[in-house]
Amino acid sequence: MKTTIDKAELKKQIIYNVKTLYRKTIDEATPQQVFQAVSYALKDDIIDQWIATHKEIERTDAKTLYYLSMEFLMGRALGNNILNLCAQDEVKEVLEELGFDLNTIEDQEPDPALGNGGLGRLAACFLDSLATLGYPAYGCGIRYKYGMFAQKIEDGYQREVPDDWLRDGYPFEIRRAEYACEVKFGGYVTVTKDETGREHFGQAGYQSVRAVPYDLPIVGYGNNVVNTLRIWDAEPINTFNLDSFDKGDYQKAVEQENLAKNIVEVLYPNDNHYAGKELRLKQQYFFISASLQTAVNKYKKAHNGDVTKMYEKVAFQMNDTHPSMAVAELMRILMDEENLTWEAAWEITTKCCAYTNHTIMAEALEKWPIELFSRLLPRIYGIVEEINRRFVEEIEATYPGNHEKIAKMAIIYDGQVRMAHLAIVGSYSVNGVAKLHTEILEKQELKDFYQMMPEKFNNKTNGITQRRFLLHANPLLANWVTDKISDAWITNLPEISKLKLFVDDPKSQQEFMNIKYQNKVRLAKYIKEHNGIDVDPRSIFDVQVKRLHEYKRQLLNILHVMYIYNELKSHPDMEYYPHTFIFGAKAAAGYRRAKLTIKLINSVADVINNDKSINGKIKVVFIENYRVSNAEIIFAAADVSEQISTASKEASGTGNMKFMLNGAITCGTLDGANVEILEEVGKDNAVIFGMTADEVINYEKNGGYDPMQIFNENQEIRQVLMQLINGFYSPQDPELFRDIYNSLLNTYSSDRADTYFILKDFMSYHEAHMKINELYQDQTRWAHIVMMNTACSGKFTSDRTIQQYVDEIWELDKVTVEL
Ligand SMILES: *Cc1c(COP(=O)(O)O)cnc(C)c1O
Repeated sequence: MKTTIDKAELKKQIIYNVKTLYRKTIDEATPQQVFQAVSYALKDDIIDQWIATHKEIERTDAKTLYYLSMEFLMGRALGNNILNLCAQDEVKEVLEELGFDLNTIEDQEPDPALGNGGLGRLAACFLDSLATLGYPAYGCGIRYKYGMFAQKIEDGYQREVPDDWLRDGYPFEIRRAEYACEVKFGGYVTVTKDETGREHFGQAGYQSVRAVPYDLPIVGYGNNVVNTLRIWDAEPINTFNLDSFDKGDYQKAVEQENLAKNIVEVLYPNDNHYAGKELRLKQQYFFISASLQTAVNKYKKAHNGDVTKMYEKVAFQMNDTHPSMAVAELMRILMDEENLTWEAAWEITTKCCAYTNHTIMAEALEKWPIELFSRLLPRIYGIVEEINRRFVEEIEATYPGNHEKIAKMAIIYDGQVRMAHLAIVGSYSVNGVAKLHTEILEKQELKDFYQMMPEKFNNKTNGITQRRFLLHANPLLANWVTDKISDAWITNLPEISKLKLFVDDPKSQQEFMNIKYQNKVRLAKYIKEHNGIDVDPRSIFDVQVKRLHEYKRQLLNILHVMYIYNELKSHPDMEYYPHTFIFGAKAAAGYRRAKLTIKLINSVADVINNDKSINGKIKVVFIENYRVSNAEIIFAAADVSEQISTASKEASGTGNMKFMLNGAITCGTLDGANVEILEEVGKDNAVIFGMTADEVINYEKNGGYDPMQIFNENQEIRQVLMQLINGFYSPQDPELFRDIYNSLLNTYSSDRADTYFILKDFMSYHEAHMKINELYQDQTRWAHIVMMNTACSGKFTSDRTIQQYVDEIWELDKVTVEL
């Protein structure tokens, strides 16, 4: 691909930007200032493409997607934009001529961490693929002032510090004040009758905030298409609310100001967990109302103010239930503001809205108390009530006299609004995110809905963008792949299967393994700088990076490290290839057991890393502040990908795909997309262990299993567990890890013992590790395996996922942009 970036022009721009932004000459500029200057220079070119894209969308009246998501875990933009503009060489050379190194400049950018984990990263990958495939799309979200907290590890404990990503200004965003709109909270519903007797609803006595959008460009790869991530900021309606002030309503003016300040302050740091906070509900309605108001206005402008066929040109995709208010808000806009009847509004709504389910974890299901919901959003609540009333009628018509069905399926029930049910009823499509996950939805979690409306259900197995997770994250491997099979893989990942020709070629194997080694050296350097730990790049890099969650079972991993360590201590001559166990994970700030698991990992690391007697055969590293930018370094360097969730709990996983693409072997359970990874790569090139989803679900139906039996019968496991409570890893406080011990063995609380089947899967996990240990020592075999992983990763591009969404759900129109 050829770029439109002109080197001489770019250089002039950078120097000029440094001058006007900072009153400096280029030789005085700091790396941060150069980062800003380069970014502004590139934005200039991006904007030309951005405008051209929108002209083309308008000219062709192309159907447009609005991807509604509370989270967009974008990662850094500069490096990605440079690559997608195909301007890598030009920018690198210009910076070198100016005396700067591109990598150093890229490192100046804070990660816009507007997401927790997989769900937010999926949204980011989808935007990249939509732009690259040329589909018109907006990402709609919130411009959190503080994104995901930054994690510090102090004395082995996680400490959360604010992630002030906007501190130095974010060069790629543009404030679009002309699209500001009002979002109303509280007050009460007004009803007036017109001369025909029809009722019209409105709101009074409310507080409101001004939603102001900031647009970020989403640059397609080498195709001049630039889409938009539109994130909303909240401002007070009037900074000095003289109106209220004059009336003596000072209190109200202050409240509106505070509401605006609070609403976009922070991203809630919960992954796969519902906390029920009032401010969170406000955030949801805030960005949904603003996004839908602008979408409807934009559509009206292009269609003579007539919204009746909006579904022909607009699709709203709800990323989990967080945006499911969209169903009711669209109804409100269409009825209260566009004067449509219920029936007309419902037809449009249910032809525009689609819903993606991301989890079957009970604690993640959003259920808002009626009291809270109706107080905060009285009009929206009234609409949800009516949707519910009509839906319950439908249930009754389908299953006469079956009250159990109503109890199970109603949207409003037992004092709560069930957001997943609202999303399903208001959508024309409901999808899961991996084959197994969709099956579980259809057969278990959403069985009643599936039976009543099977045509809505479909699967869209997740994917990742190879442009960030190979082209940008792993330049050595990217170049090697391109040398071997051409660069077609960049926009057509299945092409990468052509690498299968090389997986048994000794020279190619050597080259591939050498690249892996160099990437391990890069990660070892990062670890030395950040953790002060020396790790040997010749050891096996065994990696588990993802949010910390009990179902993801970091605990199984670290308990197994403790197990191996005990074995090495009692059998010093045991055959064991040196391993570096690498962890990276943020825990939700209020998730005590998850935070204690981080402390355990760090305590185990302290003991093992300082034990000279094991000759460095094991090292344990906890990488602080896991996020997209360091993830890129980690995936490239991994030998083993730990994907060890309790089967049935991980809807898809996408980290597993990033590891595979970069040539790591999966050590995993038959869960989420692991199942499909295994299908693609073949059983000889992955190591699978543990219970199946069916087995887990069966045990759960029958009240669990008895971990005490394993504790009593397996001496090695017992030793590991005793080390949790005898001070082996916490001499100052032997009781420190008691809660973890209890969680595995005791029925002291309402929880089942070992809810996540850690002990049940333990020996099977151990066997998987022994298998990997054996495989690694046959370097030819190993090279074959990891090269096969890269070669078979074609299915897992988000380009494929997006094309399936387009074909089977959204039916978007492609645009082509010539400059
Ligand atoms: C891909 C990714 C995730 C999701 O990882 P899973 O292993 O699928 O849970 C989370 N965080 C970051 C930074 C990622 O890049």
